[in-house]
Amino acid sequence: MYCKSCGAKNEDNAYQCTKCGGVLRERNVTPQPQINVPYIPNYLAFSIITTLMCCLPFGIVAIVYSSQVNSKVVCGDIEGAMESSKKAKAWCWWTVIGGAVVAVLYILLSVGLATAAVSTEFQYH
Ligand SMILES: [Zn+2]
Repeated sequence: MYCKSCGAKNEDNAYQCTKCGGVLRERNVTPQPQINVPYIPNYLAFSIITTLMCCLPFGIVAIVYSSQVNSKVVCGDIEGAMESSKKAKAWCWWTVIGGAVVAVLYILLSVGLATAAVSTEFQYH
């Protein structure tokens, strides 16, 4: 290889230039200190789907927490991100449970109304 500073020919595996002493290559590339960022799920897709399916305000809360997860990770607030992630997950499940309860109530109410309508029908005839 050739020295970048003086152009002298050197051994290919040489670390320093024999002519000018300039560094030809990094002897050891020191690894960048890596901050181990754990994967924190943000449940954003989950919260959006549950909100659309269940049409409940709980889902909005889940979306708000979901959107906080990534921004907190970017800021280095890992604990805060994990906290938001947990809350997003909890609110997603509340949305699902709430949606199921509403659906069951709706069915019961429809059945109840239908039964009431039928029985009143019978009373009048
Ligand atoms: Zn040189």
